[in-house]
Amino acid sequence: MIPKSHPRYASLMQRHKIEEGVKQGYVTPTGMIAQGRGEAFDYLIGERTTKPADLAEKAAVAKLSVMRDVVISVNGNIAALCPEDVVELAKALDAKIEINLFYWTKEREARIAKILKKAGAEKVYGTGEKVQVPNLDSARGKVDLEGIYKADAVLVMLEDGDRTEALKAMGKFVVAIDLNPFSRTAQTADITIVDNVVRALPKMIEFAEEGCSVTGFDNNKNLKESIGEIKKTLGL
Ligand code: ATP
Ligand code: MG
Repeated sequence: MIPKSHPRYASLMQRHKIEEGVKQGYVTPTGMIAQGRGEAFDYLIGERTTKPADLAEKAAVAKLSVMRDVVISVNGNIAALCPEDVVELAKALDAKIEINLFYWTKEREARIAKILKKAGAEKVYGTGEKVQVPNLDSARGKVDLEGIYKADAVLVMLEDGDRTEALKAMGKFVVAIDLNPFSRTAQTADITIVDNVVRALPKMIEFAEEGCSVTGFDNNKNLKESIGEIKKTLGL
């Protein structure tokens, strides 16, 4: 047991959840590498929701609340870290939930569907027949016709840059939660939230339930401000 007083409690708990997911077979070992990369950036932003992240979260919720067909894309790491938050946010935004895996297997997909259902999801997309996203090879480009394929907007987390670019090319409005402001996903999305998913989702649920509006959001400016937070940490 990790004592709650441990200075790295939150971070250690996340590691533990990812480790458990690997043991249970629904998080791939590379999911640990993604988490590690995220942690490094989290350290650099001070392991807190920064001001620009808070604004991006509000802007994302304001936009997604008025869009017709919104899908929250879930992978193994997200299922391990925060399935309840995904379900709650989907309810607050009236959004769908779809499983989308980089390293797809039927077993991983089934386990993640079970986790999401246990967390309260009534319907989980992406578990049946799928269609191919143009210009995105293999299993990772397969999406649900009734889910991501026909969605207006997609919320992606710990997403690969290629897939973000392919979703953008399909004309989707993409909101990304990514701790690395330099990643292709962060640079390509319409709204980029540079925050840890475990902090971002609860905040977004709050904003969705309270209602919020943001005008004139500029993603490039916001990304620069997030990078500015890292510079501050580095004393630059
Ligand atoms: P890209 O493909 O966009 O260029 P990448 O190849 O560096 O990025 P991936 O492994 O494809 O990275 O995606 C994982 C991304 O998710 C990384 O940018 C990482 O910083 C981020 N990340 C990892 N853990 C978290 C987390 N808990 N919350 C938010 N973001 C995270
Ligand atoms: Mg990548």
